Amino acid sequence: MPSESKPRIGVSACLLGEPVRYDGASKPHAWILGELAQRAELVPLCPETGAGLPVPRPPVQLVRLDGAIRARGVEDPERDVTDRLLAWNRKAEPLLASLDALILKSRSPSCGLGSVPLFAPGGEERDRVSGLFAAFVQRAYPALTVVEESELEDETARAAFLRRLGLR
Ligand code: SF4
Repeated sequence: MPSESKPRIGVSACLLGEPVRYDGASKPHAWILGELAQRAELVPLCPETGAGLPVPRPPVQLVRLDGAIRARGVEDPERDVTDRLLAWNRKAEPLLASLDALILKSRSPSCGLGSVPLFAPGGEERDRVSGLFAAFVQRAYPALTVVEESELEDETARAAFLRRLGLR
C-alpha cells in the first residue's frame, strides 16, 4: 500500500478525457476531473490501448464460448482479442499493486464492473458480468476498492467513496 499523503487512484483513461475509446472519443467525468483530482493522485489506465489495440478500433463484445468468456468483434466474430487483453492484465500488476482504489468505466468489455452484457454465440444477451480487466482485478486484488463511474453519480455515493479512502 502506497504511503503518499494523497491516495493514488487508477482511473479508466477515457473518464479522464483521453481519446482512447474504440470510436476515438472519450467520456470525461466532471466530478473525477474536478473535486477528486484536487484530493487524489489520478493514474490513467486503458487496458485496450495498453494491449496494443489501435484507436479507433472495431468494437468488441463479451461472448460465452465453451464455458469461457471471450472478447470478440461485434461485426467480425473471428476477431478475438481475448488473449491480448488477458496478457496486458498481467503486465498491469505492478501498477495495480501501487493503487489505493480504482474507478472503471461501466459497460466496457474490458473495464465494466458487473455491468457488461454477456452474449451467447447466437447474439442473445444472457447475463451481465465484469469486463476482462475488471474481472481480473476482482479475482487478483479482492481488497482493492473498485467502483464504476456509474456508482459515483450522487453526493451520497461520492461521500461514501471518499470516506473509504480516508478523505472525509
Ligand atoms: S478499455 Fe477502459 S479505459 Fe480504455 S477506452 Fe475502454 S473503457 Fe475506456
